[in-house]
Amino acid sequence: MKTITQIHPGITRIRLPMFGKKPGPVNVYLFKGRDNVALIDTGTFWGSWVLKAALARLEVRFADIERIVLTHGHLDHQGAVRTIARHSRNLLTVCAHRDEIASIEAGNDAPLRAYRRFLVRTGTPIAYRLAIQNMFFWNRHLTRACRVNHSLEDGDKLILGDYEAKVVATPGHTRGSISLFIEKEGLLFSGDHILGHITPNALPMLERNPLVPVRQSQKEYFNSLETIARLDPQIIYPAHGAEIRDFEVLHRIYRRCFDQRQSAILGVIQQRPRQSIYDIARELFPEIKGRAFVLNLFLALSEIFTHLQILEAEGRARLEEEKGILKICHDDSTA
Ligand SMILES: [Zn+2]
Ligand SMILES: [Zn+2]
Repeated sequence: MKTITQIHPGITRIRLPMFGKKPGPVNVYLFKGRDNVALIDTGTFWGSWVLKAALARLEVRFADIERIVLTHGHLDHQGAVRTIARHSRNLLTVCAHRDEIASIEAGNDAPLRAYRRFLVRTGTPIAYRLAIQNMFFWNRHLTRACRVNHSLEDGDKLILGDYEAKVVATPGHTRGSISLFIEKEGLLFSGDHILGHITPNALPMLERNPLVPVRQSQKEYFNSLETIARLDPQIIYPAHGAEIRDFEVLHRIYRRCFDQRQSAILGVIQQRPRQSIYDIARELFPEIKGRAFVLNLFLALSEIFTHLQILEAEGRARLEEEKGILKICHDDSTA
């Protein structure tokens, strides 16, 4: 995929660098209209010089950008906002969903102590726990958190270039993830909610107070997919990878992956009850190792936990606390 691609009149996709193979380079979308210049997402802060150079080729300066819509708060989406804002003479509007603003402004989905409490409950050994906490500590600094000055709700309308886009709340990947829908042309900008080349993560929605998350990320994620299916978009432009033209096929693939994962977890807890989330994660993801070990371990713990939330709500699994660690039982297998 090229760095700059005009995808529709007045809409350009700019592909920016991102470390690691997954999810790969970040897509930023520039809307250049007669009276309005806007961006959906910005890429990382260290990619901001690539963004600046790409915009220059399109005859846009950072100072020309009037609006940035953040699909969510991860560092590959909001990282360049502060650099752009420095050029804007306070004229820049930074928009995000109401539920995402705290995460965006803090530079992490949750406070560090919420990660610590969650990790203790998963039964993760202390050395790995500290490594994951350390990762989120540095994540907060790498994110280059920015201020949001326009709070969005589901159904809000925004002018992006010469287009009118509708805000579609698509929680699941994070609590306040949004997609932007241009109804007339059938275009959906999906952030990380829909990616064509990998299955997106539904990360646990850690809260300040409860010891384990209350909101069910996987359930919300699939509900959001249903919302998108009802919109029937013609083309989906994700934040990573190429556009998607057949959402129905992808939706079925996501559903199949979900069902397979649930069966695998049920298989493990039926065979060996009273394991921790960490034990199940290591058994189902034996391939986790190498340089991305810490991140992938956290993603594996997240995946197991968010699936268990659903299995517990459906009465197919029980999460029982034993010395501060959640032990998982199949609901027929009383230990
Ligand atoms: Zn993300
Ligand atoms: Zn991303």
